[in-house]
Amino acid sequence: METIKKDTLIIGAGLSGLTVSWKLKQIPGHSILLLEQSKRAGGTISSHAEEGYLAEGGPHGFLDNCVESQLLLTETGLDNECLKAPLAKFVRYVCMDGKLNLIPQSPAKILAAPLISPLAKLRVAGDFFKKPLQGEPTVSEWVQYRFGKALLPYVDAVFTGTYAGDLERLVMDAVMPGVRQIEKEHGSLIYGLLKKIKAAKKEKTGKKKGLPAMTSFPTGMSRLAERLYENISSDEIKTECPVLHILRENGGWQVSTEEERFECRNLVLALPVNAALALLANVTGTPPLAKIPEAEIVTIAMGFGGDASLPPGFGYLAPEREQRFCLGALFSSNMFPGRAPKDHILLEALIGGRRHPERLELDDNTLIKEAVQDLQQLLNIPNPPSYAKVLRPRGGIPQLEKGYPDLLRWRNNIMKEEKGLYVTGFGWEGIGLNEMIKTAYRVSEAIKQGEQDSGAENAEVKKVYF
Ligand SMILES: Cc1cc2nc3c(=O)[nH]c(=O)nc-3n(C[C@H](O)[C@H](O)[C@H](O)COP(=O)(O)OP(=O)(O)OC[C@H]3O[C@@H](n4cnc5c(N)ncnc54)[C@H](O)[C@@H]3O)c2cc1C
Repeated sequence: METIKKDTLIIGAGLSGLTVSWKLKQIPGHSILLLEQSKRAGGTISSHAEEGYLAEGGPHGFLDNCVESQLLLTETGLDNECLKAPLAKFVRYVCMDGKLNLIPQSPAKILAAPLISPLAKLRVAGDFFKKPLQGEPTVSEWVQYRFGKALLPYVDAVFTGTYAGDLERLVMDAVMPGVRQIEKEHGSLIYGLLKKIKAAKKEKTGKKKGLPAMTSFPTGMSRLAERLYENISSDEIKTECPVLHILRENGGWQVSTEEERFECRNLVLALPVNAALALLANVTGTPPLAKIPEAEIVTIAMGFGGDASLPPGFGYLAPEREQRFCLGALFSSNMFPGRAPKDHILLEALIGGRRHPERLELDDNTLIKEAVQDLQQLLNIPNPPSYAKVLRPRGGIPQLEKGYPDLLRWRNNIMKEEKGLYVTGFGWEGIGLNEMIKTAYRVSEAIKQGEQDSGAENAEVKKVYF
């Protein structure tokens, strides 16, 4: 078996692997090879165009508040193509007691709105007098301890919209490490945040003020993957090429597929957590978790004509206590132009998630029927829709639950110890596209400098948007 040698091998050609390859190709003389198990690059990103509708089986967009993603858009020229839907203009709703409630976007406005009782608002201020919560609390335990029960449905909506997760299981130190750090430093989270805002004002960081915008492209999110793929020559990528084993050898790395063997100085695993753990089993000690749970969701794209109409805005989310069939829905034709034929609307309903994997077992017709019945109680839409398509993504969303903080520390350690090994991708240091691009940039810079990467130095305080 002939061995192919490269400076850097990248396993996985989703957004993480494609971004790493984009950056490494900027290093003169640096040879790369991407190995991808499926037929096409792009991983979870998967836009679906049919009958004049444009829907997303994976991510719908990303916020324009991440330096590295903005850089990537400029470097690739995609900044001239992208479409933006500003959060300030496109309102969102949370379903409460069977009705859609408009949610203001800033925490102060949320508290000022008549969403929770005056007594519950007073309880939120109880945060000033609480000590940091010890241990590894779940999101639900932590919110109840600091702010009381009244905020739980809104927090539930936030984590349904991002992780399709269960706030009784997601761990606060994993999903919001920056917030936990502030709590530990200042005791009160609100006090710590106010101090941070004051310091930022003094520093005049040059960061954009106001609410960010959701970004996509006229042909959907696949355009991002396509543009990165365009930059890779045919001898720099192998598709339908699942990696079976990795091995440390001769001060470098050896990678095997069923038919070929490769050697490299730097090995980048740009993979979802579980896929990376499966390959690492050969080369490291036992990780604190053998695998982590994933939340699978299906998207049902539904088109309507005639009198159907959507409320203004992005869409809505439904907390679990509402016991609805859909986790929420995106009002896609409101957000971006060209998502539906003339005089038609496109809705994308999300089903399943961490709490309802059983719904993914339903056949397409039942899923569509149940989803339309649910949506009809909230929106002005006819039954049946004039177009409906069930989009089943390739994998689930990694869930950062009990034991994840230890797993992340373990990964950081192996990256420090194993020369030339870089582990990044879906579920490591977050789950969003911005986080994937940010970590891919950091990994590429480490490779360029001939350094090891050992994870983010400071936990970032992520802003929460519905
Ligand atoms: C339904 C859904 C909706 C989402 N919505 C949003 C959103 O609106 N906004 C947002 O910011 N984020 C969203 N996300 C998250 C976003 O999609 C991810 O952050 C991102 O796509 C992850 O990219 P990645 O390259 O790290 O992983 P992936 O996209 O999973 O790519 C990994 C690649 O590795 C390949 N691979 C796996 N094992 C091997 C192996 N052994 N050998 C070779 N190749 C292998 C896979 O085939 C895949 O192509 C969503 C995710 C899902 C599932």
